[in-house]
Amino acid sequence: MSLPAALEPHPRTDAGASALASLLADPQQTMLAFDFDGTLAPIVDDPQRAHASARSVDALERIAPCVGKLAVVTGRPVEAAVRLGGFADRDGLSRMTILGQYGTERWDADTGESSVPPPPESVALVRAAIPELLAELGIEGARLEDKGHAVVVHTRGLADPASAQQQMSEPLAELARRHGLAAEHGRYVIEIRDSSIDKGAALRSLVAETGTRTIVYAGDDLGDLPAYAALTAMREAGEAEVMLIAVASEEQRALMPRADLVVHGPDELSEWLERLAEVLGC
Ligand SMILES: [Mg+2]
Repeated sequence: MSLPAALEPHPRTDAGASALASLLADPQQTMLAFDFDGTLAPIVDDPQRAHASARSVDALERIAPCVGKLAVVTGRPVEAAVRLGGFADRDGLSRMTILGQYGTERWDADTGESSVPPPPESVALVRAAIPELLAELGIEGARLEDKGHAVVVHTRGLADPASAQQQMSEPLAELARRHGLAAEHGRYVIEIRDSSIDKGAALRSLVAETGTRTIVYAGDDLGDLPAYAALTAMREAGEAEVMLIAVASEEQRALMPRADLVVHGPDELSEWLERLAEVLGC
């Protein structure tokens, strides 16, 4: 099949190229879904300042009226994703849905309303125990982020963030297990939460709800692997055409072998989205 030269680089897999052709042929049957941090938003030292790339949001605002659904599927609470993305201020993004905390929370742009269930007490108990645990390990300066449904320990900004993450890995896993939770690793973060909720299940239910037949998903980190797995399974079952984009970085390359298209960092994703907006004529 021939894809527009303007959209290079093209997907390196036949399945990805087929999904992209389907997107171009029938964008109204397509969902474009994105992770937030490291995908739409460049990684910065302070996660409270990780704003979405303006170029990507501009491109999404152009694309939005042409496609069936735009989604952001993130580990962040929806409040933070809406604020850092500036999504509520964009009239053009009325077809956007944000699934926050891996699908626990939801925000829809058309209504502006959020659904945020109360957090489990187990997370608060873990949160309360972490400072003493880090002190016992002799780790100073790690940043704690309380997300309600999860607590995140950030080592970015420490002198040796990788070894600090390694050192706290097993003690945090043990603490999480005692409370029926799991400790999951990301780019210089360990996040403790209920691991039965993941981006794969979140995406599956949104696909079922919207009835979209073609799905493009972009992510950068280990938390995106369940999304990759769910969409790959849907593709193999013939339920959907799927194109997986890996936003590669020096810190994390786990998604690359599974991706149909690899871009290097959020800026290259912005450029690709701008080209897609051009080709769609949006
Ligand atoms: Mg990410």
